[in-house]
Amino acid sequence: MKIVYGPVASWRLGKSLGVDLICSPNRICSFDCIYCQLEDPEKLTKNRESFIPIGKLKTELQHALKQTTPDVITLSGMGEPSLANNMDEAITIIRKSTDLPIAILTNSTLLCEKDVRDSLGRLDIIVAKLDAPDEKMFRKINQPAEGVTFEKTLEGIKTMRKKFKGKFAIQIMFMNENKECASQLAELSREIKPDEVQINTPLRPCDVAPLPKDELEKNEKMFHGLNTISVYTSQKPATNPLDKMELIKEGEGSYKIENFAS
Ligand code: SF4
Repeated sequence: MKIVYGPVASWRLGKSLGVDLICSPNRICSFDCIYCQLEDPEKLTKNRESFIPIGKLKTELQHALKQTTPDVITLSGMGEPSLANNMDEAITIIRKSTDLPIAILTNSTLLCEKDVRDSLGRLDIIVAKLDAPDEKMFRKINQPAEGVTFEKTLEGIKTMRKKFKGKFAIQIMFMNENKECASQLAELSREIKPDEVQINTPLRPCDVAPLPKDELEKNEKMFHGLNTISVYTSQKPATNPLDKMELIKEGEGSYKIENFAS
């Protein structure tokens, strides 16, 4: 499997060259979200480990950057990228290879760990997931690994936001299960004070139905006073992926097309 993929057309990041620090055929994540479109989990865990050789990342990235000009390098792939305990080394390699901004799509569960926050503090953009306003909804939608709680996750988001100097976005996936929670999620977002709130609904094939445009717009209005963008109205850039055969093999709508995971 390739570590570096894309560029993909991301509605929130532009032309995004993906770096998959997990690179497993099956998902390895600290969540088992009911709307996840990746394969069933190989591991549901909050324990960090090394999944890819850093030398391979360096070779693939340098090769990719000779052939394409993305807007951003994004840590995202077959699970939660911050589970990779060599993420800090990976960021160093990326920084040495390019001046492009570096982003992460994270499910926020490891933001309660100082080591993870220190590594993420070196990035330019953090997109942190927050789908639930309380423990009950958190368990229902995100189905976390043992030891992951709503309280610790929210505390991690707030601590990271206070420390972070780059762009900090909250991403919220709305569906029937949590659509009545929009007002509570908006209140929490006001406490967090993100630079942006990304209003999403599962448009790609999965077990959960998306909310229609008018319902998502109704939810977006609850976030008045905050800077919001929505999956229905944001424009995607045109892209020309490096390895079209691999993208096709992975399937239309897969994470390699959409920079989906987390
Ligand atoms: S949607 Fe993201 S956070 Fe949720 S299980 Fe899938 S990879 Fe993990």
